[in-house]
Amino acid sequence: MARYTGPVCRLCRRDGAKLFLKGTRCDSPKCAFERRETPPGQQQQGRRVKVTDYGIQLREKQKVKHYYGVLERQFRLYFQKAERAKGNTGDVLMTLLERRLDNVVHRLGFGTSRSQARQLIRHGHVTLNGHKCTIASAQVRAGDVVRSKNKANSLDMVRGAQADMGGKDVPDYLAVTESQVPEGIVGRLPSPEDVSLPVDTQLIVELCSR
Ligand code: SF4
Repeated sequence: MARYTGPVCRLCRRDGAKLFLKGTRCDSPKCAFERRETPPGQQQQGRRVKVTDYGIQLREKQKVKHYYGVLERQFRLYFQKAERAKGNTGDVLMTLLERRLDNVVHRLGFGTSRSQARQLIRHGHVTLNGHKCTIASAQVRAGDVVRSKNKANSLDMVRGAQADMGGKDVPDYLAVTESQVPEGIVGRLPSPEDVSLPVDTQLIVELCSR
């Protein structure tokens, strides 16, 4: 599946929020958003622009897309799935995104960012329930086991990321278990409260339902 390959710090500045797209750099003083919160582009400096309702809704949707690293087409598919499912569409949408394997690998601390987690998956460094899974968008289920491959270079990369993350909080729905190789278990399906991005999903639903 295609992915965004352009500069990422400008996405944080454009969306007006820290999206943690660059791993450890995001928690350092080098974070571009900490240094300059203005939107990217020369014309934006000191400019006051009236934001329309559509603009607010669009920003909220873009924030979620950038955070989880999905493009428009894939996001629309998630939205259609959420619309068909029972329950609040916005909540279902966020939990579908939260259940992506690349997100789970990142939140377990095996990758410092979602893009690094996606690369680990694509290159076969992690297994899902003991089987190789190279699909970053695979949906995890309760009881699934995500494990580093028992190979020297896989272990180096996963343990390196764990050290860099410094035991960053693992959400309640996941648990890291100590075994010979780094391993994590999906204890239950994530709920909207487990989503770490503050976002108004109602605005996204209004925009995508037009
Ligand atoms: Fe965003 Fe991270 Fe870049 Fe800061 S360092 S602007 S949080 S991607």
